[in-house]
Amino acid sequence: MRIRNLCLFASIAVGAATTAGAQDLLSAQPPIWSTKPDAAGFEKIENGRLDAAQRYIDKVIAVKGPRTVDNTLATFDEAVRQIDSAQYLSALMEAVHPDAAFRDRATAMTRKVGAVQTALSLNRAVYQALVAVPADQADPATRYYLQRQLLEFRLAGVDKDDATRARLKVLNDELTEEQSSFERNINDGEKAIEVRDAAELAGLPQDYLDSHKPGKGGVIRITTSYPDYIPAMTFAVSDALRRRLYLAFNTRAYPQNRDVLMKMLRTRYEIASLLGYRSWADYNAADKMIRTGARIGEFIQDLDAAVRPVAEREFQMLLAEKRKSDPGATTIGLQEKSYYQEQVRRSSFNFDSQSVRPYLPYARVKQGILDTAATLFHIGFRREEGVPAWDPLVETWLVIDGGKVIGRIYLDMHPRPGKYSHAEMMPVLDGIRGRQLPEGVLICNLPQPTATDPGLMDYGDVETFFHEFGHLMHGILGGQQAWAGISGISMEADFVEAPSQMLEEWTQSPQVLASFARDYQSGKPIPVELVLRMNRASAFGRANMVGQQIGFTAESYEIYAAKPEDVNLDAIFERDTVKYGPFTPLPGTHMYASFGHLAGYSSAYYTYMWDKVIAEDFYEQFDPKNLLAGDTPMRYRREVLEPGGSMSANDLVKNFLGRPQSMGALQRWMGAEFDAPRR
Ligand SMILES: [Zn+2]
Repeated sequence: MRIRNLCLFASIAVGAATTAGAQDLLSAQPPIWSTKPDAAGFEKIENGRLDAAQRYIDKVIAVKGPRTVDNTLATFDEAVRQIDSAQYLSALMEAVHPDAAFRDRATAMTRKVGAVQTALSLNRAVYQALVAVPADQADPATRYYLQRQLLEFRLAGVDKDDATRARLKVLNDELTEEQSSFERNINDGEKAIEVRDAAELAGLPQDYLDSHKPGKGGVIRITTSYPDYIPAMTFAVSDALRRRLYLAFNTRAYPQNRDVLMKMLRTRYEIASLLGYRSWADYNAADKMIRTGARIGEFIQDLDAAVRPVAEREFQMLLAEKRKSDPGATTIGLQEKSYYQEQVRRSSFNFDSQSVRPYLPYARVKQGILDTAATLFHIGFRREEGVPAWDPLVETWLVIDGGKVIGRIYLDMHPRPGKYSHAEMMPVLDGIRGRQLPEGVLICNLPQPTATDPGLMDYGDVETFFHEFGHLMHGILGGQQAWAGISGISMEADFVEAPSQMLEEWTQSPQVLASFARDYQSGKPIPVELVLRMNRASAFGRANMVGQQIGFTAESYEIYAAKPEDVNLDAIFERDTVKYGPFTPLPGTHMYASFGHLAGYSSAYYTYMWDKVIAEDFYEQFDPKNLLAGDTPMRYRREVLEPGGSMSANDLVKNFLGRPQSMGALQRWMGAEFDAPRR
């Protein structure tokens, strides 16, 4: 929904805003779950916010006399802050609340908030009020906010005739509903397969076997949740097992989401057409860094050309590995990819990813990430003890800068039934300098330590944790703006994955890893030699991964670039999988049904690779021998993270790099395993 990505700037103290000290802010801002609301309490909080928003909207319209930033933009921004807060909380509850009935009420609330956002985005009186605000005397951030906000209004159709606006409102309400059901179907769609012969689990690590003991009737259940799914796909020798699990995983919300997705395509196509765009892909690009749909198509082709040579080299190595046990093999199925990748890592790169797991118990990794972020960004973290949350395992931390609290974060890190099954950072409150501390939640599904199990993590889990933490830091450090609407991660939506993907790269540094990765039994730090070997091994497969991502990017673009009546989901997904990746699809998968980003990102899935290009370019600016040294870390914080959404990301990139991003760093990253001598 448009207004969601809007520069939802909220902001400045309407009325007698005094700049409160940071401690005052904190005491006025208890943690979000401190009142332990039940479903009715939650609705009361939400309705209160929506009512407040309405009062500010009325106040914007009622202004008499000349319009100013203070009497109009500030009031508008306050309405946006209220609506954002309502939207963040209901989206969060949908994703994390343990009670299904509560989640249903949250879903209904998300729809209600969506309808309020849509109505605001089509409110012509508010639009005209903002148009009348003189911006020439304002500071650059305020000017940018105003200009971008007006663009978003026009993209919502505010300047169209009454009949068109009424139709757009209906369509946007429908879209909110369709997106919610698409995502809910995936969250609730967990499947499991039954294993009757324990021998089928050959190849899996001992702690996995220990936590998957046969139950009633000797049956072992393997679910499609990540902690079950990923190790099985990576280590299980049995192709039959991987096939069954892969099919279960890729049909989690099938067939129900096929129809929901088709409805979404039709709704979005009609919205784009009403607003004068040829396709949703074009319309959706208009307020992004990339600007047009055609440039998404060009980006896909450029990236494909950059990737192919390395991807082919990697694929031949996988095939050679498979031929050791299957001499006539000419193809590799998608369900075999991770398994053979792991085998090549062991045989050609002398690396067994099991060998690093003992160094990565959850608790150490968590502390290590907090410590690394603290050093890198020159901040600190302080645990808030005894804070109630929607689940007892959720932790609350304060973020400290120069002795002052500058934000609050919540860590909801382990899987439970009904919880959002991927990894995500969700904002909870927009940060407004002197008025409201930014808050955000990390939602992950990482192994949970228990009294007898240290919760050993895979290397990929650690990357995920760093990645999501990158979003969180962006939200907090970028959350010190004058306006809520330009706060945190409110910039062009196709930039938000750059800082997170950049932070992922920190896991390659032997220095960073050695600071926290210690053997959970002996306490010995991870050897430098092992990290270097792991880096070469984990570089192997990157080009194939990028190839697969190009396929997803093309799928997300093509289904939204075409007229819905011309879209055959299964045909497009099969064609692009084959066209852009070397792996053979498994008949019967309908991956689009559980590809959650088709709802939120829609045609903008290119964002991940677009931002990967930027992230690698950013990363090359740091000193590879000591990532934390020199002035680059602080320059990165100041020039990339702190501006939040107060300027175009095209400018942030140029400010930090001294030029626009280019593909060289990504190419070096993809082929890193062929650079260094193998051992
Ligand atoms: Zn991300």
